[in-house]
Order: sequence, then structure tokens, then C-alpha cells
Amino acid sequence: MNKDIATPIRTQEILKKYGFSFKKSLGQNFLIDPNILRNIVSHANLTETSGAIEVGPGIGALTEHLARSAKKVVSFEIDQRLLPVLEDTLSPYPNVEIIHGDILEADVEKVIAAHLADVEDIMVVANLPYYVTTPILMKLLHDRLPIRGFVVMMQKEVADRITAKPGTKAYGSLSIAIQYYVEAEVAMIVPKTVFMPQPNVDSAVIRLIKRDTPPVNVRDEDFLFEVARMCFAQRRKTILNNLQNGLPNGKSKKDCILNALDNANIDPKRRGETLSIEEFGALSNALYVEFK
Ligand code: SAM
Repeated sequence: MNKDIATPIRTQEILKKYGFSFKKSLGQNFLIDPNILRNIVSHANLTETSGAIEVGPGIGALTEHLARSAKKVVSFEIDQRLLPVLEDTLSPYPNVEIIHGDILEADVEKVIAAHLADVEDIMVVANLPYYVTTPILMKLLHDRLPIRGFVVMMQKEVADRITAKPGTKAYGSLSIAIQYYVEAEVAMIVPKTVFMPQPNVDSAVIRLIKRDTPPVNVRDEDFLFEVARMCFAQRRKTILNNLQNGLPNGKSKKDCILNALDNANIDPKRRGETLSIEEFGALSNALYVEFK
């Protein structure tokens, strides 16, 4: 087996060889601990028939571990300076395809058709650039791609919000927006010391597995997410208050909201953080009848 890219010594050597300087604005915190990388990849349950999509290979630390476990790896890197580095460090792995560009602009469906047509399942595995964690996840979930799930590193605070259950402080509209599509759990907490340079925040790896069917049937998904955002706008206010502030004005607005809450079987005095995703679904369907 080839020598790991992600040891502190080899990473330093590579950075020095290419005169590479980190760009904070691109969320460049590279992993320098092969054990963490092995752990991340093990949570993805890849086999020799799997495909992996990575966002931000950096100098290839995680990419090479994916290449050892999966049939094919496609990795998107925005920073052009890293392309010659990756060509060098990943030269032992012919099953890796590096795509230069911003993942948020990429036509991922097309990339899957071009490079991952012959794999049996696809996982997104990445140490994400923290400044765009949520947009990346929302794009990959919203585009309804043939992806089995995600094992991704992010800021711990965001990981907590994504995986939060009702009744907790971290539970909010982001929990709903993600858990509508996936079952979500924190897989591991990661110390700052395994990064170069070390980030200012704590990190966690989360595992998201796509649901076969949504947890609740809704008339309009975007309206569900909008209703959830309204209900959490002021966390200490009741749902009734928040909906009155968030919904468009019209004749007998309050009565329409009360009617919808009654139809959804939800007490108007409850707070958003106590509602399950199923209840948000029922509420958005009832409000849809009144307001759409
Ligand atoms: N995977 C490497 C590792 O674990 O050592 C690097 C991870 S680093 C946290 C994030 C990487 O994402 C960097 O290489 C950065 O250049 C890249 N990146 C940042 N924004 C991106 C974007 N919008 N699209 C694709 N890659 C991006």
C-alpha cells in the first residue's frame, strides 16, 4: 500500500514542494490523521462496487482512502492551485476523477452519468469547506440525485442542528429541511488537533441516509420548509404568534391560522421546537388550504 498522504510529515512535504499557502476563504483545513480518515470512510460502508463523491479533496488526504475502498471516486475541487498537487499525490489511484470547479455550480447529475454510471451505490464523503456546508447539502439533497447517503465533516454546531430531535435547543428549521430527506445522526466528534491549520471551531462527522419515502406526505415541500422557518423565527413565541407574523396579511388571517392549527390537531400555544416533522407536515398541508 502507498504511504498515506495525511501524515503530518508527508503533508508538510507536499505543501513545501508546491509552495502551497492555505486560503481561509475556501475553508482549507486539511486532515493530517490517517486514523480519522479510516474512521470516516468506515462509516460510509463502501464496497468494491460503490462510487464516492467528494467535495474538496485538498491535497488528496481523504480521496486516497476513498480510492482504496470504492470502485470509483469523483472529487470536486474549486482551487486551481491544487490540481497539479492532486495529479501528483493521487497518481497511484487510477479510479479517481478530479473535477475542477465549484460544487455549487456543478451539474452533478451529468457528472454522475459520465463517471459513476457503472457503480451500484453512491455515497458523498467529504471534509466539507465549512463556509458552505449547508448550501452544499441542500443542493445535493434537493437535486434528487441517485445518492445513498452522506458521511461528511462539518462544524459541530451545524452537525448538532442538522441531527437535532424535537424538544432540544438545537432543533430548528435546518433540522426539518434536512431530516425530511434523510435519517441523520452524529457519527463522531473530531478534535481540532487533526487538522492543519487547526480550525477555530469544533468539528463532527455526520451520517445521513436517504429515506425511501418522506416521513410525511406534503402538498408543497417548499411551503413546508417556509412554515418551519416561520415557526422558529422567534423561538420563544408561540406557533400562532410566529405564523401571524410570517404569513401574508389577508381577511381573517388569525381565524384561518387557528382553523389550520385545529385541522392539524396542534395547540396554538405550542412552540415550534416541540413539533415533530410529521406535525410540521400536517400543519403546512392545513395552512396550504387556507393561504395558497
Ligand atoms: N479533503 C481535504 C482534507 O480533508 O484534508 C480538504 C478539506 S478542506 C476542509 C475543504 C476543501 O474544499 C479545500 O480543498 C477547498 O479548496 C475546497 N473547496 C472550498 N470551496 C469549494 C467549493 N465551493 N467547491 C469545491 N471545492 C471547494
